[in-house]
Amino acid sequence: MAERIAIVGSGPSAYGTLLGLLELKKQGRDLDITIYASGSADQESQIQATYKDRLDASEINSLLKQQQGEGGLLPARHFNKVPVESHQGYEGLKTDIKLSDSFGGIGNYWSSSVFPNQQIHDPVVAKLGDLSVYYDLVSGHIPVSGRKGDPLCRFFSDETINQPAIHIDPGLENLLGDQGSVVMGINRFALETEDGGDSCIACGDCMYGCQRDAIFRAGRAIWQLACEGICEIIYEKVLHFSADRTLRTEKETASFDKVYVAGGALGTMELVHNSLGAPTHALELYDTMLWYFPAFSLGLRKMGRVQDGIAFAELAGGLYDEQTPDYNHLLISRFPHAIMDKMLGRSGFSLFVSNVINRFSVIAAVYGSHDEYLTYRLEDRGAGLCAISREKSVETLAHHKFKAFQSYLSSKGWLSHQKLVMENATSSHYAGNVGLAYGVESLPETGQLMDGVYICDSAAWDGPSQSQQHSFTLMANGVRLAVASLTT
Ligand SMILES: Cc1cc2nc3c(=O)[nH]c(=O)nc-3n(C[C@H](O)[C@H](O)[C@H](O)COP(=O)(O)OP(=O)(O)OC[C@H]3O[C@@H](n4cnc5c(N)ncnc54)[C@H](O)[C@@H]3O)c2cc1C
Ligand code: SF4
Repeated sequence: MAERIAIVGSGPSAYGTLLGLLELKKQGRDLDITIYASGSADQESQIQATYKDRLDASEINSLLKQQQGEGGLLPARHFNKVPVESHQGYEGLKTDIKLSDSFGGIGNYWSSSVFPNQQIHDPVVAKLGDLSVYYDLVSGHIPVSGRKGDPLCRFFSDETINQPAIHIDPGLENLLGDQGSVVMGINRFALETEDGGDSCIACGDCMYGCQRDAIFRAGRAIWQLACEGICEIIYEKVLHFSADRTLRTEKETASFDKVYVAGGALGTMELVHNSLGAPTHALELYDTMLWYFPAFSLGLRKMGRVQDGIAFAELAGGLYDEQTPDYNHLLISRFPHAIMDKMLGRSGFSLFVSNVINRFSVIAAVYGSHDEYLTYRLEDRGAGLCAISREKSVETLAHHKFKAFQSYLSSKGWLSHQKLVMENATSSHYAGNVGLAYGVESLPETGQLMDGVYICDSAAWDGPSQSQQHSFTLMANGVRLAVASLTT
């Protein structure tokens, strides 16, 4: 008789878990897989129906109009007209923790940087175990674009690259390099770049959500596997699980042999809390810090038009101190024209202004290392699990780190100043401490919270995530946990 398996969630963690189960199915294991996902049944077919090559100015202006009330400089990214939301903290505490109850989760809004984390020390990944073989397995199912043999190889093996690198402007080429503690290469994206099919057409409208759906989305991949009969999707939120692996939704109750919870860090913590009650130690959600600053070129650079390229983080790199060992992920982007659109509306003039700005400036970003993060303490004070406090582990980007990145940039003819550094409210790379809070020390390694119930996302990491390796690591770890739980 088939083993009855449930996965809760539909983002990258759930997809990785499903891939692990798919591997076992291919080896002959009889598994009956049900995915429980918040969101609506017709979301994916609606996306297929609205699939577009390029947005025209009037469509962009109407999107901007819809978003008039939404704060921030950049337009909120819409995919299928569902914006990502911010979790509201207790008594109005501003959290900026991004949430999405749509099918596919915040994985519908990600920038899709994918790096296998093997060559740098990351305390969280060290707890999970060797993921090399699982990164390779995931890259057999998702596109990974990048340039083999570029400077990034110092930190990240390039074996997972399976698509050509994005085209970058000649003006950005001079920023590539490997000097001292800094390397900079072409960003690796989970993006179809091979000509034809659903590939990226470099239209530069990524900040509106890729209407062409060229960026890999776990939701779409799960939906496709469901269409092939690999799993069944039930579009309902799971409200509770019990020790005998019974799941309850608003409409039904069902029992399973194994339950894999992958509801995203906060979603999973909420479900565990609703199911097991308050833990012995406080629940904490971690968010890696993120800082931005502009850099200016001494001479005008030969940049092409922004609408002829991808609109975020064309370059990625790392700042690594082998002594500490302390790794910070770095990004360099051109100025997205979505910013000018928000101020001026999409017009020939707004595109002209952003293209001029791109002749002499770029935006640099530094992600926090494993000890540069925000901690939200979570409690239920009567209205469900909620953030009650927010604390930073460091006040600002350390001067020596800024200096190291600044001298790298200045050696290439780009200037900046620490006074221009701005802190971003969230990096959207979340993790939680379910194991520590509920006294299950082995949770990061085994994922097993109780008999037959596994936590397959970063809620189980018991420490802050380290920037852009996050989602690739979530997927690889999901495969690892699914395979290990059914074969050992
Ligand atoms: C703007 C932005 C840019 C980003 N860029 C990058 C990047 O370049 N690289 C990178 O690695 N990461 C990036 N991230 C982070 C990345 O999106 C997340 O790390 C990733 O989506 C987390 O995956 P997840 O599956 O754990 O959770 P989610 O993507 O949040 O998915 C969880 C899903 O489970 C559902 N769910 C929760 N509880 C339940 C329940 N009880 N029952 C049923 N369903 C439930 C949720 O509704 C959601 O659909 C970015 C995020 C944002 C917002
Ligand atoms: S440039 Fe961005 S929006 Fe345009 S097709 Fe490529 S990923 Fe999609």
